[in-house]
Amino acid sequence: MRPRWGVSNNKKRKCVPAGAYQIIKYLRIKNMKIKRNDKVKILAGKDKGKIGKVLQVFPDGNKASVEGINLLIKHLRPQKQGEKGQRIEFPAPMNISNLMIICPKCNKETRVEYTIVKNEDDTSADSVRVKNKKFRKCKKCQEVID
Ligand SMILES: [Zn+2]
Repeated sequence: MRPRWGVSNNKKRKCVPAGAYQIIKYLRIKNMKIKRNDKVKILAGKDKGKIGKVLQVFPDGNKASVEGINLLIKHLRPQKQGEKGQRIEFPAPMNISNLMIICPKCNKETRVEYTIVKNEDDTSADSVRVKNKKFRKCKKCQEVID
């Protein structure tokens, strides 16, 4: 496919094909502050103050769905005659800025920062990027979360 060239007025972006940014976005693994199975506290919305476990993270929309939080009901029409319609309750994804992680080590609600752990002993990995791993760290007790 021939690249479409951007028509943006932004001078920095002018020399990059319009589709390239989208490709870069998908190739790069986004560093999310919240991951699956994290315990989080809800800061806003109808379930404000509650605590739940993260079921799924959506890096594209910066969202995450939490078990039992922000429940919506989806009504399904009956597919066949004689069948009953269904109501499915599911946790709707909420913005990550409305969630705060609870540190598994000190049990406090904190923000996370990143540390890079160098693994010099690992000879199987040849690139620096594989050797150095990025971990999340609790800002309150400075313990590495994972
Ligand atoms: Zn902590």
